[in-house]
Amino acid sequence: MNDVSIPKIKAIQLLNNLKITKLDYLKYLEEICCEVGPRVKYEEILGAEGRLVTNGDLAIITVPKDENYKGRTRFSIAHELGHYILHLKEDNFFNCSALDMTSWGNSSNRNIEYEANVFASELLMPSSFLSEHIKDNELTLEFLKETANEFETSLTATIYKMVEVSKRAVAVVVFRDGAAKYSFRSKILQGEGLWVELGILNDKTLASQCFKTGQTYIARQQIEPMSWFDDKRITNYGLREEVIFFKHLGFGMSILEIIN
Ligand SMILES: [Zn+2]
Repeated sequence: MNDVSIPKIKAIQLLNNLKITKLDYLKYLEEICCEVGPRVKYEEILGAEGRLVTNGDLAIITVPKDENYKGRTRFSIAHELGHYILHLKEDNFFNCSALDMTSWGNSSNRNIEYEANVFASELLMPSSFLSEHIKDNELTLEFLKETANEFETSLTATIYKMVEVSKRAVAVVVFRDGAAKYSFRSKILQGEGLWVELGILNDKTLASQCFKTGQTYIARQQIEPMSWFDDKRITNYGLREEVIFFKHLGFGMSILEIIN
């Protein structure tokens, strides 16, 4: 996630224009949408998590209402608002799946789903609010879940955003079908030029254990540092890994932290 990306700037501009200076104000997401343009409607959509339809001045965001997954619903609304603000010149109909809402793999090709996610995550979890909230806390899954509840947004988006603002040496890796697909690193790791190894999972990683056993969660533990980083410098440090697997989405996330 690039710090100066257009989607992030657009979200910050919207927060500034609407004078959203407190987390409480973000509870009024439907009103925020209305202020910008789209009306929010709750209705089941077959095979999709969110939809944006525009016709002239009329714009409607449709999402399924599920009180058990309020955070996910709010993220879907913010994602569709992202399409409205960023992509209307390209289309007037967006039908987005659960996988679109969790698309964080920025490739060299432009990915409008990734852009809508970056917009939504900054809107619901403004970096300035989040930095204050995170302080120097460790990114345990428990703390990440608490944060997702407090900011009322999805867990996958929270994990990404927390890695972005963390001052610790942390990374998140997305894996699917026994292979690490992409990763996102905190500023420290980016600055140090430490890259997470992608491709077939190393047997010593908890992600590999998770894939082989079908577990949906493996508690945090210390593992062999070189199993994720092919860089000799890492041998002077320790590495902790914690894993969650999202069965309904078919992928897992490993949260890594390099420690002294
Ligand atoms: Zn979308």
